[in-house]
Amino acid sequence: MSCFAACRPGFFKSSPLSQTCSKCPPHSYAHEEAATSCVCEERYYRRESDPHTMACTRPPSAPRNAISNINETSVFLEWMFPADTGGRKDVYYNIVCKKCTSIAGVCEECGIHVRYVPQQSGLRNTSVMVIDLQAHTNYTFEIEAENGVSELSLGSKQYVSVNVTTNQAAPSPVTHVKKGKISRNSISLSWQEPEQPNGIILEYEIKYFEKDQETSYTIIKSKETEITAEGLKPASSYIFQIRARTAAGYGAFSRRFEFETSPVSFAATGDQSQIPIIAVSVTVGIILLAGMVGFLLSGRRCGYSKAKQDPEEEKMHFHNGHIFCSTTVKLPGIKTYIDPHTYEDPNQAVHEFAKEIDASSITIERVIGAGEFGEVCSGRIKLPGKREFPVAIKTLKVGYTDKQRRDFLGEASIMGQFDHPNIIHLEGVVTKSKPVMIVTEYMENGSLDTFLKKNDGQFTVIQLVGMLRGIASGMKYLSDMGYVHRDLAARNILINSNLVCKVSDFGLSRVLEDDPEAAYTTRGGKIPIRWTAPEAIAFRKFTSASDVWSYGIVMWEVMSYGERPYWEMTNQDVIKAVEEGYRLPSPMDCPAALYQLMLDCWQKDRNSRPKFEEIVSMLDKLIRNPSSLKTLVNSSNRVSNLLVEQNTLGGAAYRSVNEWLEAIKMGRYADTFVENGYTSMDAVTQMTLEDLRRFGVTLAGHQKKIMNSIQEMRAQLLNGMVPL
Ligand code: AMP
Repeated sequence: MSCFAACRPGFFKSSPLSQTCSKCPPHSYAHEEAATSCVCEERYYRRESDPHTMACTRPPSAPRNAISNINETSVFLEWMFPADTGGRKDVYYNIVCKKCTSIAGVCEECGIHVRYVPQQSGLRNTSVMVIDLQAHTNYTFEIEAENGVSELSLGSKQYVSVNVTTNQAAPSPVTHVKKGKISRNSISLSWQEPEQPNGIILEYEIKYFEKDQETSYTIIKSKETEITAEGLKPASSYIFQIRARTAAGYGAFSRRFEFETSPVSFAATGDQSQIPIIAVSVTVGIILLAGMVGFLLSGRRCGYSKAKQDPEEEKMHFHNGHIFCSTTVKLPGIKTYIDPHTYEDPNQAVHEFAKEIDASSITIERVIGAGEFGEVCSGRIKLPGKREFPVAIKTLKVGYTDKQRRDFLGEASIMGQFDHPNIIHLEGVVTKSKPVMIVTEYMENGSLDTFLKKNDGQFTVIQLVGMLRGIASGMKYLSDMGYVHRDLAARNILINSNLVCKVSDFGLSRVLEDDPEAAYTTRGGKIPIRWTAPEAIAFRKFTSASDVWSYGIVMWEVMSYGERPYWEMTNQDVIKAVEEGYRLPSPMDCPAALYQLMLDCWQKDRNSRPKFEEIVSMLDKLIRNPSSLKTLVNSSNRVSNLLVEQNTLGGAAYRSVNEWLEAIKMGRYADTFVENGYTSMDAVTQMTLEDLRRFGVTLAGHQKKIMNSIQEMRAQLLNGMVPL
């Protein structure tokens, strides 16, 4: 084309002085000659700031593979970028939140109280945390993808939607408190239910103290929304704070409300009922709490001159770390587990803790599993005044012995004492007709180990950590109750359709009798060796700390998608290796922080292991800060750890690399291995994940399969474990 000549159709030059014509960029055209720019094709656009030489672009397609991870009333949403970015790099995302009632299709905007971290619109990353949702509520989140030309398009926004149901949450704080009748020695108060009760309010706790005397306070419990605090000093200011409790626990205390008693009068001075109860200062809260726990666990009855009050109220006074309380005080969340064995008549225990259900209210639908005592079925229950809902039904097979019936119902007597979102919930029992049944909430995804094996590699790390957090939270509740599980393993965790994990399989000695994993020890009794702490195996020292060890193994099972701990090693070899200080190696692609937590749970000294409470808060921290999960256990470390006794590595069970690859259905890589010099099994057992990646084995599933097999071989050769 000659200098300064007009461009022919399909070409353009922005300045007539420019020497060359440029071809119209993709998705644009110039039908006429002498075009100074090209026009975008239909449904393609150019922003003002886009150079004329840039292709015309279009809005992106919808984001893909959106997933959610629910934690009480927070939801973490994660998605993948759109398959078609419209040809632009400036893709961003907006979140539309809709609250839906149970009537299908009726949804409304979530409103301003819902918060988004980091923000609701213009998100550059492919994740967001949505907080302050309502409990037990269905939400639909639409994740829209947009880019720099979306506003120029009239087409509708492309989005992917996720439906979630939030979990139980503690009530919001009480905000409205009013003073009522005030006398020289008493103050009456009333308040309104919290704005978000998030469940049925079981009771309120009212804490009060004389102004500037915070270390000496009184707590009153009440089922009503009013109380009268008595035994106060005349003409004194008192500070009140109130909090509500539901099955999910206590909400936060309200702000402080200050009220003053009336001045003293001569008539009152002789009134002996006005001796102030609160006088002595309490040191620190921690000591106080320690005192309370010790006190409760020791089962001491307490003496205190009870002030006149509503029989519904329970009152406690705190003096110098001692508690003076009315008779049946239950501290917030501190309820202790009662061993049904302590009942002479086991039937009495069942009916104490489990509701009798009329068999006619249950419809059995299908068999979903096999328990030790009979089939496990799914079905539905319709209780008076309630909507029908799905349940799991464990049945006791015909021809049972008395002991079998007792043991079967023993599980219900235990389960019925628990009330926690991460513990399987007992609906009730059928004992008055046959078959005898235990009815529990239905967990759509069944047992965790099977579920993970079926969905190998399908979850994000955050989702896996969410599952672990739930299990730890359930275990914290059990340990607070003084219940030691003894058989914590992924096979004894159930998972529902929202990926909420719940601890199940409660029993007395029978739990271990039933477990196919449990083996007899030399001291008698059956123990699931691979999951059990060394002190519990050696001298049957089962404690919450030994449950923590098992929890570490569950973490390992979850992060390796249901792999069998210690693979095919024999129980005897596992016991010996663990005693010698060897531990399971990190699962593949496991965040370093999680593997460290596993190792902490496997400390030999049980007192050095973390408590469940610490595990829960550690996992919460990781969930809140997902970037902390990005550091993975270095894959070469993982493997080199296993090389400790390298000299002992002889030939593995396979005679050739080819035979081995065929056996693990990876025969397609036989040539690749040979080309890269891996011609013997000796060489293969020293391979790292980096080597695999270098050869071009890029599919994560294949990498995983090959590396797991290599690890397994090492495990067999080296007793399978990493020395601590
Ligand atoms: P279990 O006797 O408790 O070990 O139960 C046997 C099997 O039945 C489990 O492995 C589950 O697959 C299934 N199952 C037990 N309880 C439930 C439940 N509440 N919801 C769904 N499946 C269950």
